[in-house]
Amino acid sequence: MIKKGKIIILSGPSGSGKTTLYKKLLASRIFKGKIVKAVSVTTRLPRPGERGGRDYFFVSRKTFLYKKKAGHFLESQKVFDNYYGTPKKQVQELLRDEKNVLLCIDVKGAGVVGRKFPEAVRIFIKTASLAALKERLLKRGSEDDGGIRLRLNTAREELKEAGHYDYIVINEDLRKAYREIEQIILFHIYSGRNL
Ligand code: 5GP
Repeated sequence: MIKKGKIIILSGPSGSGKTTLYKKLLASRIFKGKIVKAVSVTTRLPRPGERGGRDYFFVSRKTFLYKKKAGHFLESQKVFDNYYGTPKKQVQELLRDEKNVLLCIDVKGAGVVGRKFPEAVRIFIKTASLAALKERLLKRGSEDDGGIRLRLNTAREELKEAGHYDYIVINEDLRKAYREIEQIILFHIYSGRNL
């Protein structure tokens, strides 16, 4: 039986593959109706195929800062060049409705949510090495040299936080990493166990 809703945080460096895993979890039949996402607010522009209200709420910097000041966010961070925030009310309502809320957020934001919700399940996703991370970022091709250097330096700092997480998943083989996360989430939502 499913018990009370909880927060499950997926985090890790840019290029670790967390977003791919997050999307796969949300699309899986096993978790249909069992885990839900909270739609974050961001100042970055939509990418092709992204839709406002579904992937993110895309807002101007002015609107974002206004919302931040008004206490709209559970946490908010500047991630590289853009601002991102987790909407507080949405998460609170989902938890109240006993939904398990899956958050895919950066490492600093995950730290904030983890402190506010000590019972949250925190999963850190990383590549096998920094060299593997660099390779993935190069393959992704969405960043120039400076962007890659910045992401690698940030990753070095973020990796220091991995020890504070409940689980560390090495994403070397996507299918294997997915299975591991699936087992972790199934365990927590069905046992109702807190950490
Ligand atoms: P992207 O722009 O590629 O969708 O996301 C960039 C980074 O921002 C990723 O690491 C993603 O997990 C993170 N992110 C997305 N939404 C939020 C949020 O609401 N809060 C924080 N702190 N990070 C977020």
